[in-house]
Amino acid sequence: MADTQLMPIPGMIDPVPVTRDSLVDGVTPRADGRIDLLGLPRDRITALLAEAGLDARQAKLRARQVYHWLYHRGVTDFEAMTDIAKPMRPRLTERFVIGRPQVVEAQHSSDGTRKWLLRTEDGHDYEMVFIPDADRGTLCVSSQVGCTLNCRFCHTGTMRLVRNLTPGEIVGQVMLARDALGEWPRGRMDISEEEDEAAYTADGRLLTNIVMMGMGEPLYNFDNVRDALRLVMDGDGLALSKRRITLSTSGVVPMMAKCGEEIGVNLAVSLHAVNKQVRDEIVPLNRKYGLEELLEACAAYPGASNARRITFEYVMLKDVNDSDEDAHELVRLLKAYRLPAKVNLIPFNPWPGAPYECSTPERVRRFSNIVFEGGISAPVRTPRGRDIDAACGQLRTAAEKKSRADRDREAADASL
Ligand code: SF4
Repeated sequence: MADTQLMPIPGMIDPVPVTRDSLVDGVTPRADGRIDLLGLPRDRITALLAEAGLDARQAKLRARQVYHWLYHRGVTDFEAMTDIAKPMRPRLTERFVIGRPQVVEAQHSSDGTRKWLLRTEDGHDYEMVFIPDADRGTLCVSSQVGCTLNCRFCHTGTMRLVRNLTPGEIVGQVMLARDALGEWPRGRMDISEEEDEAAYTADGRLLTNIVMMGMGEPLYNFDNVRDALRLVMDGDGLALSKRRITLSTSGVVPMMAKCGEEIGVNLAVSLHAVNKQVRDEIVPLNRKYGLEELLEACAAYPGASNARRITFEYVMLKDVNDSDEDAHELVRLLKAYRLPAKVNLIPFNPWPGAPYECSTPERVRRFSNIVFEGGISAPVRTPRGRDIDAACGQLRTAAEKKSRADRDREAADASL
């Protein structure tokens, strides 16, 4: 296991975007020296194959085949790539590997929610959560190990930031979920120049949506998140429409337009308060990028429209942000900035030592009604996976508290 230098922890209210640090060109580090292709785009795979001695034409062709098997079919073994010449396959295995995040623990909630504790090659833990519903299945994906932003209602925010996840570790979460759900396209096992890619993309999957709402602030790991989501959205990659992907930010204003332009996914904003005083407390990033600036950036978000509204997340905290006045002010603000908006009301999910309580069910209903009466959709989100600490704001690698032996025993019992 390679050592990773811990990152310096930026100040509480002025976090700095964290670079790719020691990770060379987004490659997930491996102790055995082989290069993990997971997370690499086609042109990078082409270059690596050329470095491995293939001539330019061969490298391009083989890269196209490997890319397809890797991202579209979920294959992890070069021997299974049946349209690649047999003598070539061991050569690939010698130099490359197609990895997956290591599963330390897999938990099932009584409501069907599933949470996986994952570990990077260099030994850092992070989590992903799958939330099945009647009409959709949503995977909540992490972008960082820990988080710098210290949102006060969020358990993840009490962890220190260790490092950004690489593109491979981000897209690897989606691929692992597809492995677990048995959702790789089936079909004939060879590809040809003329193949119709659409044949594999619409097949009633369980995993239909992705939200970048797990651990971390995705806009502080912009390049890696963008590169991973491009693989997810590519028709010859995981082929999930950008309309089914939502990126949630606490309000990193300078990166929001870039996110719309370069990724183009739906936007969710962790709003949680309608005045400076309260938002400064709950989401300390507000002291750097205030409400007005944030709402202006939302109004300018590329691609937002009534058909693709921006989601405003609002956690319901008793006697903090849940009054009638707050609800009226929320409607006023969203209208003042002419935002194509919907509001998600999230009953607060307490965790040990949390400084808040959840609003009463009556208060949450009343708040929701006021916003609905103002002409803005404001459903109350049903908490999911509370019994396994998988609900919103609860992600924190609880395994930190367990002994290694406990985890190893549980991992042996856990099956994907
Ligand atoms: S809510 Fe998101 S941005 Fe805020 S501390 Fe938690 S993980 Fe970080």
